Order: sequence, then structure tokens, then C-alpha cells
Amino acid sequence: MKQVISLKDVTGLKSSGAKTFTAPADAIVTPSAKDFLRSIGVAIQFDGTAPATAPAKPDGDGYYGGPASPTTPQWKPEHVRLFNSPEAQRIKEHIVSVSHRLWKREYVDGNGGNVSVRIGPNEVLCTPTLVSKGIMRVEDICMVDIEGAQIAGTAKRTSEIFLHLEIMKANPKARSCVHAHPPHATAFAITGAQVPPCMIPEMEVLVGTVAKAQYETPGTKAFAETVLPYCKDHNCILLQNHGVITWNEDLEKAYWFMEIVDAYCRTVVIASHLGAPFTHIPNSKIGDLLKIKQTLGLPDERTGLKEADYCACEFRPGVVCTNPDESSASAPDLDAVVKIVTEEVMKALSK
Ligand SMILES: [Zn+2]
Repeated sequence: MKQVISLKDVTGLKSSGAKTFTAPADAIVTPSAKDFLRSIGVAIQFDGTAPATAPAKPDGDGYYGGPASPTTPQWKPEHVRLFNSPEAQRIKEHIVSVSHRLWKREYVDGNGGNVSVRIGPNEVLCTPTLVSKGIMRVEDICMVDIEGAQIAGTAKRTSEIFLHLEIMKANPKARSCVHAHPPHATAFAITGAQVPPCMIPEMEVLVGTVAKAQYETPGTKAFAETVLPYCKDHNCILLQNHGVITWNEDLEKAYWFMEIVDAYCRTVVIASHLGAPFTHIPNSKIGDLLKIKQTLGLPDERTGLKEADYCACEFRPGVVCTNPDESSASAPDLDAVVKIVTEEVMKALSK
């Protein structure tokens, strides 16, 4: 029978000063024992083999730069204990399940998207960089502190974790964040169009109005801070020219919101091809939905508004709802364009 080497079998090595731990060739070393050995800088050597070393990691993030992780991490034992606890294991499995669903639904591509769950006052489990969500494994999950420094795990944490952490710090109810690039919602993020409200009850009750954070380079502090104005009154934000982030206390619900917002945007896009006017839920009925939403403890920026202001934006084919700030900043002055074109035409005709 294979020998199983667990945490209690190796804790004595801490005071021994040994740099190598030799195990029988066919022994099984548990993950917590491996992490502990790594945390005290001891390499595992199986009889007849060379000592195992930490897996090679890319320099920097491999994507938008960012600090490189240490090649031989010295994680603190208290972090290793939390990281290997049954509760952390359950959350890691849930993160992997959400990652797989994001990939299967084509909400992420390449190594895009990330998932995080706050597991302690200062500890957050998250997905690593440079791993497709389609093949994510429990052992790929890492742990960072609330400022983004990695404190456990073999793979390097995503550089986009800072976006999640800003939301978690600004809103204690945001214990779980899901970030992805779902094509239908992202379509709204790469145009001046707002996601129009007041058309499907499920969207109103679970997500509501969708804010749009201005563009910044992903992975930077400035990017992470773009969401700050919206963290309290929304649970879903479009990231301009990038994607979507959703959050909730519960990871499953944060994932639901991603499905709901993309399905809603897909429905709006399909409906806009039908050529018939959109119908909207009346303001008075939206009030009923907002009451249901309150009982679920979900935020909505329209709480406290007059009924007449619940659905400020009426979406119809050819006339999309735009953010007044964006449209005034980016839309060309139509009169000026007409004047220039007219002058050019007159010039050409007079030749
Ligand atoms: Zn992204």
C-alpha cells in the first residue's frame, strides 16, 4: 500500500533546518503537507528522483505586466492552514465550477475572465492568470490579501484581482466577484449605448440598471478604481471597451447576474432586428419589482426615485439610449459636420 504523508508527518521539519524531505518513491504527499514544506523552504525528494522544484512561472503577468510572483514562495503557516481548510476547499470547487460554466457559455476566451471569493477579513481566493477557465482546476486557485499580494497557492494570481478587491473594500456585501467578457453585454460596452431598463422582470429584480465604468488599461490601479462610483448601488457594471463585472455575497448569485445580463442584452439585440417597437413594463409595475428586489437585499440606484423616473431610457430600433456624458463627449457636432460636407461639395461643384 502506498504511504500517505500528511501535514502532521512534516511539521517537525520546521525546526530541523533541513532543506530536503525524502519520501518513498511511490508515496502520496497531501496538498497541505506540500504547501507546508513549500512555506518553510523544504524541497520534496522522492527516493531515486531529483528534488522537486516549484513549477516555472512566466515573468510578470504575461498580460499587461504586473509584479512577478516569487519563484519559491514562503507562505506563512496561518495562510497555508486557511488555504487548505475544508471551507477553502469547498469555495475553490465552487470557483472551478463557475469558471467552467463561464467558458462553456462563451463568456470568456483565451485566459480571460476571473473569479474571486473573500474567505476572511484580509484573505481572498481567486483564479490565476494565464489559465483558461475551461480547464481550471482546484489546485490552480490562489489566495491574495485584500491589497492583492499573493499569500498562498502555486499559480500566480490574476492582475485583474485589483478590480475585484476595490469592489470588496468599497462594499462589504460584495464577497464574491465574477468578471467576464460575454459578447452580448460587451457589445453594449463597446458602443455609446446603455443597457436599456424596464423590459424583462427578472433583469429588473436581480440586476436592474447597469452602470458603465470608463475605460482604463486592465490590470492597473486606475482601472480598478473606475468601478468605485457604482459599487454600492449596482451589482453589475459594464467596463467600457472591455467586459462585465458582477458581484454578490454569494458566488452562485454573482454568476447568475452574469448570465442574466448577457441573456438580457442578447434578447434586446435580437428584438431590435424585428422592426417592431419595443414594449416596456409600466413605471407603476417597475415599483412592484423594486419592492421584491428590496426583500432580496439587492441594491438598485432607483430606490427613492419618483415612479416617473424609473425608466428614464426608452430603447427602440435606431434610437439607442446613450449616456449623456459619453454622447456629449464623443458624438460629433452634426451641424458642424453638415457645414463641412456642404462646403466641400460646393467647392467641388465650383471647379
Ligand atoms: Zn477582462
